[in-house]
Amino acid sequence: MYQDEVKFIKQVFNTDDFIPLHEPKFIGNEKLYLNECIDSTFVSSVGKYVDKFEEMMADYTGANYAIATVNGTSALHMALLLAGVQQGDEVITQSLTFVATCNAVFYCGAMPVFVDVDKDTMGLSPDSLLSFLQENAVVEAEGCRNKVSGRLIKACVPMHTFGHPCRISEIKKICEKYNIDLIEDAAESLGSSYEGRHTGTFGKIGVFSFNGNKIVTAGGGGCIVTDNREIAERAKHLTTTAKLPHKWEYTHDLVGYNYRMPNLNAALIVAQLENLDKMLKNKRELASTYETFFSNRRLGFVTQPENASSNYWLNAVVFENEKDRDLFLEETNASGVMTRPIWTLMNKLEMFKGAQCADLANSLWLEKRIVNIPSSVRL
Ligand SMILES: *Cc1c(COP(=O)(O)O)cnc(C)c1O
Repeated sequence: MYQDEVKFIKQVFNTDDFIPLHEPKFIGNEKLYLNECIDSTFVSSVGKYVDKFEEMMADYTGANYAIATVNGTSALHMALLLAGVQQGDEVITQSLTFVATCNAVFYCGAMPVFVDVDKDTMGLSPDSLLSFLQENAVVEAEGCRNKVSGRLIKACVPMHTFGHPCRISEIKKICEKYNIDLIEDAAESLGSSYEGRHTGTFGKIGVFSFNGNKIVTAGGGGCIVTDNREIAERAKHLTTTAKLPHKWEYTHDLVGYNYRMPNLNAALIVAQLENLDKMLKNKRELASTYETFFSNRRLGFVTQPENASSNYWLNAVVFENEKDRDLFLEETNASGVMTRPIWTLMNKLEMFKGAQCADLANSLWLEKRIVNIPSSVRL
């Protein structure tokens, strides 16, 4: 039934070999910089590439400060800690996300609360957020309290799904009204902007990932961005074992974390970032090719939302029903074209089953219908 789709994807990637969902491409100074690290012996947690990476990220996103971390999950964990999320607090997020978003909430001893996503953006819905808060929350001197659980709602973490920006300006307004810190999980959306502003820079803190499957990679890596100097300094301190600067003494004033990105990984990502604009252009061309094809096939293809420019990190097709989706997954994967369904909703996972949920109609609808298709940069 989907042999034309298989044929088309093979044609688009100009190969009969296995086509992965997303593979990294090294077309620049990667080897040069990695060799430089080895030659200089600066392969570990300090080095010029870490500083260079932080500069490039602040510059690219327009944030005042950028702090490198060992991966995106640790960046999320740190962002929540910096927002003051503690044992017994709550954090509002979407149930349609990658598990790392919720794991980070749990690392703080807090509970996620799940609201719905918008069908078009697949990211947190401001309408769902507002109606949840109107029904369940009251703003007190201490902060925003959930009347049902009695707990404080400390933060809201929207996620820009597959690189498509969610309606972040509206979400920001609601968070301000309810005195809730906004932290953006922008792990998938480097290169995506909303109303002309880079994703990750709307909230108090934004988080990026440079895992191997992301648009550009450090091998493994993450980054925190913020405009707030105090938060930035604290982030750097806490992610680097909270050591007090001194010529030789080891004194630490807090229980810190070893969330440092090694210089080797920073060297790789610096080389990758040098080609980000080229990669973005290439990915947007691929998305446009897909869009034309799928609209002729009368299959839904996810395009960038209104007011947004998307990096099209992972392209996604929307099926009419679960049965068609499963057939597509069977046929493509059997033919060496890697495709994957969207994540199982977080509220269905064993560890988050106790979490409070809003009406998740759109999340449930998308969960059964979305499939990611090969999206690597084509050389
Ligand atoms: C990739 C990803 C993360 C985590 O990043 P890692 O670098 O793999 O730890 C977090 N949130 C989302 C939505 C992601 O896609």
